[in-house]
Amino acid sequence: MTGIPATDVAGLLRRYEVLLLDAYGVLVNSAGALPGAAELVGQLNAAGKPYYILTNDASKLPTTAAARYQGYGLAIDAERIITSGLLLEQHFAAHHLAGARCVVLGTEDSRRYVERAGGEIVQPHESFDVLVVADEFGYPFLETVDLALSGLFRAIDRQRPVHLVLPNPDLIYPSPHGFGIASGSIALVFEAALRLRYSHRRDLRFTRLGKPHAAMFTEALRRTGTRNMVMIGDQLEADIGGAHDFGLDSVLVDTGVNAPPFSAAPARLHPTYLLRSLT
Ligand SMILES: [Mg+2]
Repeated sequence: MTGIPATDVAGLLRRYEVLLLDAYGVLVNSAGALPGAAELVGQLNAAGKPYYILTNDASKLPTTAAARYQGYGLAIDAERIITSGLLLEQHFAAHHLAGARCVVLGTEDSRRYVERAGGEIVQPHESFDVLVVADEFGYPFLETVDLALSGLFRAIDRQRPVHLVLPNPDLIYPSPHGFGIASGSIALVFEAALRLRYSHRRDLRFTRLGKPHAAMFTEALRRTGTRNMVMIGDQLEADIGGAHDFGLDSVLVDTGVNAPPFSAAPARLHPTYLLRSLT
């Protein structure tokens, strides 16, 4: 971890107008709030400091996520939570997908995101236009993946257009037992199968919406109206690389997936600062 300066929360509050905070690995894990998270959120709320949660999680609506955070003692309003699921609305509008028949791999809230974006939810065995891989939970995994893959092959064989969307491109997530695979890994399985069968088709890939891609940072910019924002995260690719690509400073906390040192990582994955404690 050579050459990257350490900072503290006070320093970040001084330097930046807006704090963008990742959720998993920074404020919470699947068991509850991480050390210092409640104090940090309380401090930001008391100071009236603008902040947003930028999470790739597409398994919970902002209201669901806010209720969960509040249950952990984190007083975060739903309006401050920008999820990758929320980005589906703009994506569906941009690609004229209103009324499209959608198979959604994910939770009940994942399906509600798709409905709010204008999609019509259908079952994996039915004919569909859009496959949304939103989350790794909420469905019988192998059975659903097999049905969705078979449906994709049928549609492509019949020359029907298919649209693939991946709100959360995360490949893995930290769990109490170690790590688990996330929806991004499931999308890779579909893409590998599609490549095997349609090697001449370059277009059969998922559109990735969440960090490190620009859509989520664009939404934060739209809400805040300033580029004087800093991204605080625990994952090099999603949080640090995403902020870098969007032209933002970043802070790595060492509580999550990427344990330092990371000196072999390319320059875009080097954070502006390191943060060892949220308090
Ligand atoms: Mg994280």
